[in-house]
Amino acid sequence: MSDIKYSDFQAAVDSTLARHRGVFDVLSKIQESSARLNRAVIKAATTCGCIRLRAEKQELDDSITLDQLRDVIDNCVEGQLCENCRSVIEKEMGALLYYTAGLCNTLDLSLYDAILQEEKRLTTLGRFSLR
Ligand SMILES: [Zn+2]
Repeated sequence: MSDIKYSDFQAAVDSTLARHRGVFDVLSKIQESSARLNRAVIKAATTCGCIRLRAEKQELDDSITLDQLRDVIDNCVEGQLCENCRSVIEKEMGALLYYTAGLCNTLDLSLYDAILQEEKRLTTLGRFSLR
């Protein structure tokens, strides 16, 4: 997505975010959206069953290098999202992005600039930016 698209999205959020425009509302909506996104992922496993979430301790050999870490760590997800769960999760993810853009507007920040800064950090630090 180009910077124009991010700007368009941020402008659309600015023109539609009215009732929850204050910083406290925006911050609490970000938290609520994040919780709803988490719930949608969990419900894909516990209600639909299209994916399976497996929680267990991951044993890591001390000899594993940072380069090997990505290939060794398991994401704990088995299966594929069905069309319905994918749609629900994308909707909740969109709401989280909506309120994140709303916070940018409230603080006079650019969502695009924030993404650019993060991308620059990732490409500059490479594997040392692993989280
Ligand atoms: Zn599903």
